[in-house]
Amino acid sequence: MLLVKDDAHDNMNIKAAYLHLLTDVMTSVAVVGGGLLMYYFGLFWVDPLISALIALYLIWASFGLVRESSAILMQFTPKGVNIEDVIKVIEEEKEIKNAHHIHIWKLDDNHIHLEAHLDFNEDVALSESNRVIDTLEKKLHDSFDIEHTTFQCEYARDDNKEVIA
Ligand SMILES: [Zn+2]
Repeated sequence: MLLVKDDAHDNMNIKAAYLHLLTDVMTSVAVVGGGLLMYYFGLFWVDPLISALIALYLIWASFGLVRESSAILMQFTPKGVNIEDVIKVIEEEKEIKNAHHIHIWKLDDNHIHLEAHLDFNEDVALSESNRVIDTLEKKLHDSFDIEHTTFQCEYARDDNKEVIA
């Protein structure tokens, strides 16, 4: 349990393993302690009380884990990444008129993915769009820790320009 404790802060799987081991330890201690109290003092109510306390602790401790992993499974936009701020950074590029159809999600604890449509001001060559994409990749990585991007480059395309997050 102590060996995995340090890594439990930044990895959800290890945190789950840590909680599992922690409750195993607590249960073992409770069984021995409860057994002694029952054997020497006849305090039989101690047993269900300890069981209930461990169960409550486990529910409380796993709640955050369930919430966090559900957010990943449901592809929520990660906390700490504001879509409006991301759009602002993208639209700082003079070649880009508008960014829309934004989707930001996580596949695990650390890797943030982004997909977006980029509406260009001019009908630029693909090589020019590459240059803009390179700049955006770097800026989005530095500002928001976004590790993987997929851009759809558009010019005067008649599609939905809503920011769909
Ligand atoms: Zn579009």
